[in-house]
Amino acid sequence: MTGARVVIIGASHAAIAAATKLRSLSGDANITIVSAEKDFPYQRPPLSKAYLAGKSTFENILLRPENWYEENRITLRRAVTAMGIDRPEKVVRLSDGSRLSYDRLILATGAIARRLPAEVGGYLPNVYVMRDLADANALKSEMRAGQRLVVIGGGYIGLEAASEASKKGVRVTVLEAADRILKRVAARETADDIRALHLSHGVDIREGVQLRRIVEVNGMAAGVELDGKTILPADFVLTGIGVSPNTALAEQAGLEIDNGIATDAYLRTSDPAIFAAGDCASFPWKGQRVRLESVQNATDQGITIASNIAGDERAHDAVPWFWSDQFDLKLQIAGLNIGYDNVVTRQGANPACRAHFYFKGDEFLSVDCLNDPLTFALSRKILETGRPLSREQAEDPQFSLKSAVSLPL
Ligand code: FAD
Ligand code: NAP
Repeated sequence: MTGARVVIIGASHAAIAAATKLRSLSGDANITIVSAEKDFPYQRPPLSKAYLAGKSTFENILLRPENWYEENRITLRRAVTAMGIDRPEKVVRLSDGSRLSYDRLILATGAIARRLPAEVGGYLPNVYVMRDLADANALKSEMRAGQRLVVIGGGYIGLEAASEASKKGVRVTVLEAADRILKRVAARETADDIRALHLSHGVDIREGVQLRRIVEVNGMAAGVELDGKTILPADFVLTGIGVSPNTALAEQAGLEIDNGIATDAYLRTSDPAIFAAGDCASFPWKGQRVRLESVQNATDQGITIASNIAGDERAHDAVPWFWSDQFDLKLQIAGLNIGYDNVVTRQGANPACRAHFYFKGDEFLSVDCLNDPLTFALSRKILETGRPLSREQAEDPQFSLKSAVSLPL
């Protein structure tokens, strides 16, 4: 389509990847990005890592330099929210009263951090979530040695923030409602390693605990009350209890929703002129519908959509991968562990270096690599190429994963 008008709602990992790829494929596409945020688009992962630690500046974490948009003839509308989509007219209504016509629309609206209800103190001024730059700045300003932080939720957000806070001398307690941390995303073996790491740095991790309320004193959170009346004193609280896909705009427009904006394998929504990518979108993957919350997924989906808008018919089938940095641990995950029923461990060259491989019966699904980038890279390759890997091979440190990559299919 020459001179196609492409409007992208959201300006984060999925959106910028889509715009970049589209510009490389089409010199004359008319690309507009609409961003509710006032800042230039930035990477989210450092918010709970190097940026929170004060080791990266905002300039370091920009997704693209500020002049990139103009140089690539991409219109970036900042601090403007898309309020509605008129599908028959192919028009997006914006919060400043303006309207944008499109030939193709990309929804990259991401996810919203869940909060505890106001009745239990979830909205007190020193109860934080961690989703955007403002959240990170607010949390960072509280992180001083000797302060007490209670983190609610033992997922990636909670554990990464606990790690950075603890490194600054903040006294941290993590509360997890489930019987163990990382239950949604990782096996018991990985959770055991990560718990041990945090405990060794003095982080207090309490699993299987129910919180009754955040204790309010003079309008501020002063502690967290657990069932059984235990009160944990706190100077500030972080809630890392997961996210909800941001589907409001798609719902209003009457698009199909199924744990996110539902797309087909080509990332088209139930309206063929509208695509969806990243944290907001669910898509078919190996016979099931999944929604992934990761940079790789958002980026790869943005690229797939750009290719499809430019005329390809490309199904999205990238092998997912993730990472997390906590204290001196580099956790790298390849594949998806959905439906696993057994896990084997491969011990690396030193005690801190190991990998937990997930299997469903004999089928290799995914791997969590702790301080083991080589096993991560080779396992990812095995998953990408669909080569077989048995449990015995996975757990045998003498077995060369490199040889498995080059086996005939
Ligand atoms: P988002 O990044 O959620 O961005 C969506 C954007 O759309 C937002 O800026 C929002 O304001 C805007 N928007 C929404 N609705 C509208 C509207 N109507 N009009 C205009 N704009 C709108 N993933 C990893 O793989 N590794 C990590 O280490 C990692 N660390 C993370 C650390 C933190 C602190 C956070 C918050 C996330 C982390 N993630 C990590 C997850 C990763 O950042 C997300 O999966 C990724 O940002 C998803 O990108 P996205 O483009 O789908 O949406
Ligand atoms: P998450 O991975 O969903 O983890 C939230 C955890 O909080 C879950 O273990 C959940 O347990 C628990 N929880 C829920 N309600 C609770 C309660 N009332 N009390 C105590 N615990 C409770 O989400 P997250 O850690 O908040 O992360 C948010 C988003 O950022 C996700 O998309 C995540 O992938 C992304 N992120 C990714 C990385 C990374 O990839 N390295 C880093 C940071 C953030 P249940 O499952 O039992 O509800």
